[in-house]
Amino acid sequence: MISGRRNRCAWMNRISHKVSMNKILVIAGAGLSAESGIPTFRGAEGYWRNQDPRELATRAAFDRNPRLVWEWYNHRRAVIRGSMPNGAHRALVELQRRTPGFLLVTQNTDDLDRRAGMSAGSMVKIHGDIFDTICIECGGRVPAGNESADLVPRCAMCGGMMRPGVVWFDEELNPQEVARVENYINEGPCDYVVVVGTSAVFDYIQDWALRAKGRGELIVIDPIETPLVRYSTLYLRGSAAKLLPDFLSRY
Ligand code: NAD
Ligand code: ZN
Repeated sequence: MISGRRNRCAWMNRISHKVSMNKILVIAGAGLSAESGIPTFRGAEGYWRNQDPRELATRAAFDRNPRLVWEWYNHRRAVIRGSMPNGAHRALVELQRRTPGFLLVTQNTDDLDRRAGMSAGSMVKIHGDIFDTICIECGGRVPAGNESADLVPRCAMCGGMMRPGVVWFDEELNPQEVARVENYINEGPCDYVVVVGTSAVFDYIQDWALRAKGRGELIVIDPIETPLVRYSTLYLRGSAAKLLPDFLSRY
């Protein structure tokens, strides 16, 4: 279903009349991977053993009970390993191939974009990578797939506790990854900003989307009317796996 200030025909015409679109920023969240069977954090489906993921995904929870947090991450890693990229991931890879100035900023820590063919250079994983395992003492890193089966893995170099390489809700973003997004935006406005499957509750997500938009188009794809919808030039209400390929076929 498509709603918003403009109807579907106007949208299709506008997109098919654009001939050169060089710069597209896509900002994605958990909704992109929802149809691959990876739950978002919000709502009942995100709960694990009656625990709210928004409370488990914190440094405070890890410090209180690292074993519990590792059990949850091992469970999430297993769910992701058992999932496949969906049509939305594949559509983004196609969009990247066609667009010289493409950047995907994803809040997802899964590897489905990479498995769909997205190159690391075209993507900023602003909340880290769930398959990274990092020592909290020395910063030593264990590559994905080589992590220990122990519930709380220890660093082979210093014996320190290891943690998943994600950014938790009570932590700062990685400044190098922030700089990649800032540099991209400061180079000039985008023809299109596509915000897909994110509740956009973080200020930096809204800020990046609005600054990158400039006078260009802001397209929001989400079944729920998120805070960015009021600034959008087009709101596509519904599922990413359906609507992103639709968007691509018009681009
Ligand atoms: P979020 O804030 O990005 O919100 C999810 C959004 O997706 C909601 O607006 C929802 O309406 C929308 N959505 C649901 N199904 C959809 C679909 N089929 N198509 C399009 N949109 C859909 O994410 P969150 O779940 O609140 O998680 C917060 C943070 O936790 C994430 O930003 C991420 O860092 C982490 N997380 C990552 C993953 C993952 O890697 N796949 C999954 C859950 C949470
Ligand atoms: Zn160490």
